[in-house]
Amino acid sequence: MNTPSFWKTDLTSIESAWQSAEKAAEKRILCRSAGGRPVYMLAYGEKKSRGTANYSSALGAHDKGCYVPRAQKPAVILIGAVHGQETEGVAALMELISLLETGCDLHGQRDDALLALVRQLRLVIVPVANPDGRARVQPDAMVGCSFDDLRYWGQGTWKDGSLCGWPACKRIHPIAGHTDFLGGYYNDDGINLMHDNFFHPMAAETQAILDLCEQECADLVIHLHGGGNCPGNFIPTHYVTLECCRFIEELGRRCNAAGMREGMPYVFPAEHTLPQGENPPSFNLVSACHHVCGGVSLCYESNEGLTDADDGLPGFDHDRILRMHRILFAESLALVQGK
Ligand SMILES: [Zn+2]
Repeated sequence: MNTPSFWKTDLTSIESAWQSAEKAAEKRILCRSAGGRPVYMLAYGEKKSRGTANYSSALGAHDKGCYVPRAQKPAVILIGAVHGQETEGVAALMELISLLETGCDLHGQRDDALLALVRQLRLVIVPVANPDGRARVQPDAMVGCSFDDLRYWGQGTWKDGSLCGWPACKRIHPIAGHTDFLGGYYNDDGINLMHDNFFHPMAAETQAILDLCEQECADLVIHLHGGGNCPGNFIPTHYVTLECCRFIEELGRRCNAAGMREGMPYVFPAEHTLPQGENPPSFNLVSACHHVCGGVSLCYESNEGLTDADDGLPGFDHDRILRMHRILFAESLALVQGK
C-alpha cells in the first residue's frame, strides 16, 4: 500500500518538522529513550505559571490554587505513538504542526477555525512518545494491512515465532528477552509505557510524560492510540474524578454529533462507576497523568484502516482517519475553553 505524501510518521520526518518549526514558543527534547532516541516536544502559546506546591500537596492543603495560582489560559497536551505501530495520531499531529507553522496542513488546506482555538491556549505536542517502538515498525501506516500484520508490528512475536497478541503481550512486563520480534508497543527495554511501574523509577519516556503534564499544569491530556477498525473510541479513564469522566463523555458526545454528519461515528463511556471486581481495570499511563496535574487525561483510539479486522466497521482510509482526529482536536480545544 502506497503511503500518501501527507502521511508523515517516520522518525526522520518528525525530526525535520521539529528542527524547522519556527513559530513554536518552546521546543525541546524531553528525554532520550531507552534506545537513545530523542523524544521531541513543541509548544505553542504562553506557558502557565505553576504555584508553590505540587498537585497532591495543593489538594492536601484544600487549595488547588497552590498548584495553579490564578485563572490562566488552559494547557492541552497531545501525545502520539506511545505504541509505535499506532501511527494515526502521529500523522494527525504532523498535519497540525504544519497548520501551526505554515497556515496550511499537509494537504495544503487552511483551517482558520482550529487556529483561532489554538491561539486561546497553550498547546503542547509530543509527536512520538515511544521512538524506539516507532523505529522498529517498518510500515508508516496500518491502512491496507491485515489484523495479523497489526499484531506482528504491534505486540511482536514470542520465541517460537507465534504472535504475542493483545492482551496476552501484557502477561510479561518488561517483555524484553521473551520475544523473537519485539513489536512497536515497547521501548528498547521492552517496557510498555502504558503499564510502567508508576511508583518506582520509571522508563525515561514515562517519566518525561508525567513531568511534562506536571510542569504544564495540563488541563487536558490526549493520548492518541489505534484500535483496529474501531469507531473513534474514547476509552474510559479509571481512578480519576467524576468531573474528568463527565468531560470525556461530553467530548465524545460532541465528536459523535460532528462526525455523524460525515458518517463517522465515535463511541464514549456514558456510565461512570467505581472500578471493582477481582481484575479491576489497570491504573495506566492515562490515569497517572491525571494524578500529577489534575487535568482530564483521556485515551482516544483511532480506526487503523485494516483489511480484515472485525470491529463492526470497515477500515478507513488515510483521509477519514485524519478527519476524525481533526474533529477530535477542534472539539477538545473548544470544550476545554468552555465553548
Ligand atoms: Zn495503543
